[in-house]
Amino acid sequence: MNTMNIDTTKPHSARMYDYYLGGKDHYQVDEEAAAHVIAVFPGIKTCARENRSFMHRATRWLAGEAGIRQFLDIGTGIPTEPNLHQVAQSVAPDARVVYADNDPIVLAYAQALLNGTPEGRTAYIQADVRRPERILDAPELHETLDLSKPVALSLNALFHFIPDSDKPYELVRQLVEPLAPGSYLILTHCTPDFAPETWEKVIDIYAKGGIPAQVRSRSEVEAFFEGLELIEPGVQEPHLWRPDGEPPALDSADVSFWVGVARKR
Ligand code: SAH
Repeated sequence: MNTMNIDTTKPHSARMYDYYLGGKDHYQVDEEAAAHVIAVFPGIKTCARENRSFMHRATRWLAGEAGIRQFLDIGTGIPTEPNLHQVAQSVAPDARVVYADNDPIVLAYAQALLNGTPEGRTAYIQADVRRPERILDAPELHETLDLSKPVALSLNALFHFIPDSDKPYELVRQLVEPLAPGSYLILTHCTPDFAPETWEKVIDIYAKGGIPAQVRSRSEVEAFFEGLELIEPGVQEPHLWRPDGEPPALDSADVSFWVGVARKR
């Protein structure tokens, strides 16, 4: 494993998220920053878990009911079973998945993202979402996906790390633009709507660790889907988006996420 470019002197979002999910792939600096977040916002673990659980349900829905066979997942995170390709391929063994992340730790563990079914295929691109052309022009993308057919583009728990100064809405438009009609955008985003003061403190901890973050309101998250057709139930809290049976009784402030799935006409 190539761990050469991994910076253990400051916290990283992928490694802090791994800590919230109970993973093992983080360093002391991440654990300290994550513990600080948990102290001001114990809900962060619920938040991470429900975001992940939504990814599982949305991916199953896309591979099942929506008949999608191609996935592009940007801001993948450190592999956490089941990964998106495992969920998609459990429904459609021939599903193809391209992953992209800009953190060298995700690259170091990327092998776990490449062990799909024999019928399907997966690839990994080390890239920054702020340079969408690098992802869209990558040979690995075109070797794995056929952009003349529908693709589900997932941007889960990524855009709260893209402040307005990086033009997040333009980035999403650039990524959706080359996708075929019938493609989908899946996006999840932390929100201050239910606990504004707590989120100010959380953002402050990330900022002090050198991680710029910006949480957004429901209408700001809805704006990412502009021009697309939102699938029922629209932009919703993750545990209330097409739950399997009765949704868990959770406090919205602990979840603090908005999620949505929309179709390109
Ligand atoms: N999508 C996964 C993981 C979310 S954690 C999930 O929802 O479970 C956020 C991920 O986004 C981290 O892995 C982090 O490295 C990645 N990330 C943050 N900024 C990024 C950027 N500018 N370009 C690409 N990936 C980025």
